[in-house]
Amino acid sequence: MLLKLYQAGQPILRKPAKTLTREALVSDKVQGIIDFMIATLRDAPGVGLAAPQVGESLRIIIIEDKRSYHEQVPPELLKAQGRRPIRVQVLINPKLQVIDPSPSLFFEGCLSVEGYVAAVSRAHSVRLDAWDRHGKPVAFTAHDWHARILQHELDHLEGKLYTDRMLERSFMTVKNFALLWRKALSAKIAQAFRN
Ligand code: ZN
Repeated sequence: MLLKLYQAGQPILRKPAKTLTREALVSDKVQGIIDFMIATLRDAPGVGLAAPQVGESLRIIIIEDKRSYHEQVPPELLKAQGRRPIRVQVLINPKLQVIDPSPSLFFEGCLSVEGYVAAVSRAHSVRLDAWDRHGKPVAFTAHDWHARILQHELDHLEGKLYTDRMLERSFMTVKNFALLWRKALSAKIAQAFRN
């Protein structure tokens, strides 16, 4: 089943999401939500999805970046972004710690801000502590594009959207991004949009 993607303006996207107990996590209801979130993310398609985006105030995020998604991205941009394929990750009650705050500036979009993108500065490396979908603790460090996706999704669990953090002047339609900015690297983005 595919879930409805809630768009900016829906109040649930602005509320902190609720922590799950292990008991709630293993319930058929929550396991079903996780399966439907994976299907919804793949259908969109997107690289990350947080439960509030499908109308569930729960601390669940799904991440997946398939190699096939990279075919549309210029190779030099993929390299600059440090973007590599990520196998599907289901992360419950995730906690994020920045381990390398040096800024990385690239465009990003959001399935809840359909039709637009903007440049957002994110920390280069993070440590993530969470549970997997069975309640087993997982911990790892993530860099570059993986770290960006995690920071974006963790923001959703606090009721934040990328528009709260973007370089305001870089906000644009996906159409104009594809037409004019899809190859832009950090230096060009900074030069064009920093106030
Ligand atoms: Zn998003």
